[in-house]
Amino acid sequence: MSSTVSTPDSTAPEAAHKPSNFLRQIIEHDLAAGTYAQRRWGGSPGDAAHHGAGQPDPAKIRTRFPPEPNGYLHVGHAKSICLNFGLARDYGGVCHLRFDDTNPEKEDQEYVHSIIDAVRWLGFDWASSFNGQHETHLYQASDYFDFMYRAAEHLIEAGHAYVDEQSADEMRANRGDFSKPGVDSPFRTRTPAENLARFRQMRDGELPDGAAVLRAKIDMASPNINMRDPAIYRIRRATHHHTGDKWCIYPMYTFAHPIEDALEQITHSICTLEFEDQRPFYDWLLQRLIEGGLLNSPPPHQHEFARLNLTYVVTSKRKLAQLVRDGHVSGWDDPRMPTIVGLRRRGYTPASLQLFAERIGVTKSDSWIDYSTLEGCLREDLEHQAHRGMAVLDPVKLVLTNWDEVMGAGHLEPCTLPALPHPPEGQPAPAPRQFSIGKEVWIEREDFAEVPPKGYKRLFPGNKVRLKGGYVIECTGCTKDAEGRITEVHATVVPDTKSGTPGADSVKVKAAITWVGVADGVAAEIRLYDRLFSDANPDAGGKDFLACLNPNSLHVVTGYVEPSLAKAQPDDKFQFERHGYFVADRADHTAGRPVFNRITGLKDSWGH
Ligand code: ATP
Ligand code: MG
Repeated sequence: MSSTVSTPDSTAPEAAHKPSNFLRQIIEHDLAAGTYAQRRWGGSPGDAAHHGAGQPDPAKIRTRFPPEPNGYLHVGHAKSICLNFGLARDYGGVCHLRFDDTNPEKEDQEYVHSIIDAVRWLGFDWASSFNGQHETHLYQASDYFDFMYRAAEHLIEAGHAYVDEQSADEMRANRGDFSKPGVDSPFRTRTPAENLARFRQMRDGELPDGAAVLRAKIDMASPNINMRDPAIYRIRRATHHHTGDKWCIYPMYTFAHPIEDALEQITHSICTLEFEDQRPFYDWLLQRLIEGGLLNSPPPHQHEFARLNLTYVVTSKRKLAQLVRDGHVSGWDDPRMPTIVGLRRRGYTPASLQLFAERIGVTKSDSWIDYSTLEGCLREDLEHQAHRGMAVLDPVKLVLTNWDEVMGAGHLEPCTLPALPHPPEGQPAPAPRQFSIGKEVWIEREDFAEVPPKGYKRLFPGNKVRLKGGYVIECTGCTKDAEGRITEVHATVVPDTKSGTPGADSVKVKAAITWVGVADGVAAEIRLYDRLFSDANPDAGGKDFLACLNPNSLHVVTGYVEPSLAKAQPDDKFQFERHGYFVADRADHTAGRPVFNRITGLKDSWGH
């Protein structure tokens, strides 16, 4: 924060620790200048007090996250959620969650629930306290339909809107294009009285769907096509998930959105760059309604930022829906999906997504973020808190042929390793993991070579290695089946070399390998996920995104995990030593049948 900008006391100290960006600068400027502190509240019939926003603290900033409940949220929405709720949190303001439900055909209550869950899970809240009053800022655009209708009648009466009955084709042709100005509709000169009567007929169901639209009357020759008399109301006989069959006309998004922002006393209306050309209409509409006394001044201001583009990912709701519908994935929450429910099931944490949003920042120019940035944030979050554990993903049995003789027949020797080698500062180390070693253990197939390649340090006849947390062993050979596939690896245990005992260092080895005891290891289904697309830009110009699907994005193996992992609760995250970060699947994991998903490898394994 610049030292020359002073901010009101309500500015939370967090803001000072965050890297600045153009939106933070705008907010700090507005807070210092008191841009919104002069707002007059109450009085007019359209005031937000009638819609539940109360008498807000004028010094507060208000942002909003306005999803349309027509699908599941994805990682791009997560950026927008972290941005809007994060700014409100950091500057002592409020962020509204608002369902932009102006398009009844595509919307559904299922999506409303999933969006609420996603925002909460990401760690944000739409409640606030002011003057001892608790407020909940959860809204839906359809609550404002009455006001929007009144606003439309006002525009008609003031000569700013007209009912157009050209066909859709005529309207399109008369709109012109970038090089050609538009042509006035023959209906543009109707009187306010005529327009009002016709608009009421639209509302009363006297005209069929598509027969007429209400248009703002601005300028058919404007260089900005969005200002060429945009449609603001259309006839659509559709049952709305909230208002039922009360309306057969619905406001267009571009008309509804600024009104929603104004009624809720939003100060900073933050949206993605594609709405930049809509800003003149946003401002035009709010000015007309302020002039008419329907809204208060100053109006909210729209600010645009660059949307998130992530490599190897599609974020179009339509394409995501197609992946689900056509069975390319198991559902919206398939761990390969970039949806918030998918990322959650994959094992991503709210903190890792918040860190990601912060790290990629906000700018005004479009860019691509490499998928490895997201994985890096997950590793950073889990590194110091995910408990370690050993798992064998491609098991072959190792038999310690002298075990019974030197350790005693059937003997199981208890072993321990730290659950967290480097606990976060100030936190006590958790209890160590307990497991045991006996005559037989599972090891990775790749940890044995009959004929070792150059530089190979693991098991081959005559070589000694340590079983991590257990004993030093010396490889003696293997057995094979008729096809020549190795069925068992054989070794002898070197007594008195157990990790953590005085004899541990008596024999030097060049490698320690991971293992799981046959006696106490638990069989587990392990789902090894890879990127869903093999092309970095499956969404780019004209490509068939389905042809870019990675045929090897899921590989399921049956492995073995140490006892501490088998006790996991669904959603518990671990670092499987040497293999990466894994999560107990929230849908399928049970104590009797452990199921783990690979979240990501230990290092950045993505080819660059
Ligand atoms: P559509 O409008 O096509 O249904 P949408 O992704 O824009 O899809 P909305 O529900 O309108 O969906 O989005 C809610 C909010 O999330 C909007 O403010 C939008 O700007 C923001 N948003 C959507 N996609 C991204 C993205 N990739 N990066 C950042 N913000 C995004
Ligand atoms: Mg949208």
